[in-house]
Amino acid sequence: MRTRFAPSPTGYLHVGGLRTALYSYLIAKQTKGEFLLRIEDTDQERSVEGTVESILRSLEWAGISPDEGVVLKGTSVDQVGKVGPYFQSERLDVYKKYAQELLEKGHAYPCFCTADRLAQMRDDQTKAKQAPMYDRLCMSLPKEEAAKRMANEPHVLRLKVPRTEVITFEDDIRGKLSFQGHVVDDQVLLKSDGFPTYHLAHVVDDHLMKIDIVIRGEEWLSSLPKHLLLFRYLGWTPPRYAHVPLLLNKDKTKLSKRQGSVSVEEYITKGYLPEALLNFLAMLGWNSGTTQELFSLEELIDAFSIDRVQKSGAIFDLEKLDWLQGQWMRKIEPPEFAERILPLVAEKYPDAKKDKDFAKKAALIQERLTLFPEAPEMMSFFYEEPKVTVDLLANEKQKVTSADVPKILALLTSTLESIDDWTLPNIQSALEKLATEGYKKGQILWPLRAALTGKPFSPGAYEVAEVLGKEETIKRLTAALKSIS
Ligand code: GLU
Repeated sequence: MRTRFAPSPTGYLHVGGLRTALYSYLIAKQTKGEFLLRIEDTDQERSVEGTVESILRSLEWAGISPDEGVVLKGTSVDQVGKVGPYFQSERLDVYKKYAQELLEKGHAYPCFCTADRLAQMRDDQTKAKQAPMYDRLCMSLPKEEAAKRMANEPHVLRLKVPRTEVITFEDDIRGKLSFQGHVVDDQVLLKSDGFPTYHLAHVVDDHLMKIDIVIRGEEWLSSLPKHLLLFRYLGWTPPRYAHVPLLLNKDKTKLSKRQGSVSVEEYITKGYLPEALLNFLAMLGWNSGTTQELFSLEELIDAFSIDRVQKSGAIFDLEKLDWLQGQWMRKIEPPEFAERILPLVAEKYPDAKKDKDFAKKAALIQERLTLFPEAPEMMSFFYEEPKVTVDLLANEKQKVTSADVPKILALLTSTLESIDDWTLPNIQSALEKLATEGYKKGQILWPLRAALTGKPFSPGAYEVAEVLGKEETIKRLTAALKSIS
C-alpha cells in the first residue's frame, strides 16, 4: 500500500506526528509498498523556515525516512517520485484546476463576504447558541453577477454541502460513521490568495498521489464528510481512512507542552534511543494482543495492524517510556555502548579518551543508566577523587553507625591489601570471608562502595574495586579514613 505522512512545516515534529508517521510507515512496509512525505505548506503565514529539514531529520533519526516525496539527501531537502511536486505550495495550478471543475459542476460557489461580516455572523450565531456556520448569503447570487464579481473582487470558493444528506463511511479505526449534512459547514476550498485550504489539497493530493490509506489524527474526523463529498464530486474513489486517537496527559487532558516535552527533538536531545521512543509511540493506542512489550522496528512491521488500534485517547506515560528506554539501553552491545558514551564522558573528563579500561567501566553503568547524558555523572568517580563524608559512609539501613566506620575502613584496607592477585573472584571471596567474621555483608560493602565512589548509588563494590585496581582502591580507603578522622 501507498501511505503518507503530511506534516505542515509550522514547527518541530510532534511526538503525535511521529506516531502517525510510524503507523503509516509500518503499513507501507508490511505490504511492501511506499511511504511518502508531502509538505502541506498552504498556510504561508504559519510556515516556519527550517522546519522541513528538522522534521526530516527527526524521521531519519527514528529510522523511518520516506521512500518518496520530500526527502533528505545528505543534509539538504530534495524531492523524489513521479507524482510530485510534493510541496503543496508548488501545486497551486493543480488545485485551481479542480476547484474550477467543482465550480463548473455546481458543487462550489464563490463567496465575497468580508472578514468583518463573517466575524459578525459568527458572533451572532454564538450568542444565539448556534454552531458557527456560513449562512450561505453568497450562494444565492445570480450566476452572471457572481461571475462578474469574480473577475474584479477578492473571493473564496466554498463547497456546497448537501444539507439534507446523511454521509456515511467506515473508518478503519472508528468503524461505521455517519454525518448529518445540515451540520457540515460550506468549507472554504480555495482562499482569496489562490492557495487551497487543507481540505481541497488533501483530497486532490491523496488522489493524485495514489494513497491507499490516510492515517491521520482524530482532530480531522469531523472534516471527513467534506472530504468524502469532494472525492465524490471529483469522481474519485476515496482512500481508506484511519483516524488515530489523541495523545493525552496523565490527567486525560490533551497532551500539551506544559506537562512535558512534545517535540521529538527534545527527546533526541535528552538522549532517548530511537528504538525506545518508537516502541513507546507504537504502543500508544495500539497493542499486539500478546504480552510482548519490546518491539524492534522490524518486529513492529510484522506485528502491527490498524484494527488493533484503539478508539479512545492514549495516555502519554513517561514512566513507561523510561522503562522502555532502560530496556533498550541494556540491549546495546557493550562495546557500542562504550563508544556512544565516550564523547559525552570525555567532554567532562578528557582522560577518559586515553583510558584503556573505559569499556570495562562503561559496562558497569550500562545496567543503571536510562539516558546517555547521565553517563558523565555516573562515571565521575572513575576520573576524580570522590568526596567522602561520614554521613555517606554510615548508613542506617545497612546498620553501619558512624562509630563503626573507622573500624570497618581499617579492616577493609588490611583485607584488601593482602590480596595478591587482584581479580573479581579474589576480591569477592576475601570480602565475603570478612563478612562472616562478625559483620554483615551490607556493613562491609556499603562503606567500601561509598568510599570508592563517593555516591549513595553506584555500581557494586566488588566491580568498582576491581576496575579501579588495587593501588587506587587502597588509596581511596586510606583517604576516606583520613578525611573522617
Ligand atoms: N497537514 C496536516 C497536519 O499537519 C496533515 C493532516 C493529514 O495527515 O492529512 O495536521
